[in-house]
Amino acid sequence: MEWCEYYKTLTENLNQGVYFLDKNKKIIYWNQSAERITGYKAEEIIGKSCSEGFLMHINEEGKNLCNDCNLCPVTIVINSGEVYDGEIYIKHKDGHRILTHTKVFPVRNDRKEIIGAIEIFYDDSERNELKLRIQELEKMALVDSLTKVANRRLIELNLNSRLNEFKRFGWQFGVMFIDIDHFKLVNDRYGHEIGDRVLKMVANTLVENSRSFDLVGRWGGEEFVVIVSNVNEGQLYAIAHKFKNLIALSTLKSNSDLINVTVSIGATLVRQKDSLKSMIKRADKLMYQSKLNGRNKVTTDFEIT
Ligand code: GH3
Ligand code: MG
Ligand code: MG
Repeated sequence: MEWCEYYKTLTENLNQGVYFLDKNKKIIYWNQSAERITGYKAEEIIGKSCSEGFLMHINEEGKNLCNDCNLCPVTIVINSGEVYDGEIYIKHKDGHRILTHTKVFPVRNDRKEIIGAIEIFYDDSERNELKLRIQELEKMALVDSLTKVANRRLIELNLNSRLNEFKRFGWQFGVMFIDIDHFKLVNDRYGHEIGDRVLKMVANTLVENSRSFDLVGRWGGEEFVVIVSNVNEGQLYAIAHKFKNLIALSTLKSNSDLINVTVSIGATLVRQKDSLKSMIKRADKLMYQSKLNGRNKVTTDFEIT
């Protein structure tokens, strides 16, 4: 297609992910940044229809946009001719969810008829800087070697700094304790290696969807801690809830199996007399309450209004 060749030369080297679709939503071009952000190579994608759902676009509430033509951004653009602009969570090839800012434009021929669409998306560049910082921390033995998130030592260092700031300046923050549900069953059923990939998937979902000034760390085994800066009760609950939902919506593909896990979360805000130990202990207890209440739950020690 002529237009495809024309736009290709313009978008090949952009930092944003770019793909072109024909009128039937078949993907006809996929640039290098799209490969980087999604993990899918052009040769795996070109010729497929975006409605096959490999990227599984979902919105903030977890609604799948790909299998509903009233919600699918590309269908909306092809039918209406208007530009789509929104925040969408896409699924990386490794299973985790990534927040992207996405725009879809219609492509028209000389007679102004719509003949396809261009989708442009980018991830958070601050987060990319964070990835570089993680490489530095890795050298200092503060990063968990499997999941590449903060290790327990770095969580403790960070939590102590947050506690000092809170005591000196009153800067509120929260802590979440996150434990994968029935993780032993994943290992038993699929083996340790797949278990490791699930741990990475959960870690990636947490990192990709937290703010760049928050800290995600692996406390040990299948347990993660997130330190959330400058939040009130409602915000802390909303973030925990988002993590829980995004993890439940992430899937790892292994041969013909689709592997899913859920997490139980405990979330608490800092208190005047807190120490590192007391905060972690409280968050852990709340997490355990989520287990008792049936798992795949968030428990807090404050009222949600
Ligand atoms: P619950 O819902 O009550 O949390 O059940 P669970 O099975 O997740 O909890 P349990 O504590 O019984 O099991 C945790 C499992 O996590 C056991 C251990 O083999 C596994 N595990 C710990 N670290 C790793 C790791 O680095 N890789 C893998 N693959 N498994 C791990
Ligand atoms: Mg555990
Ligand atoms: Mg567990």
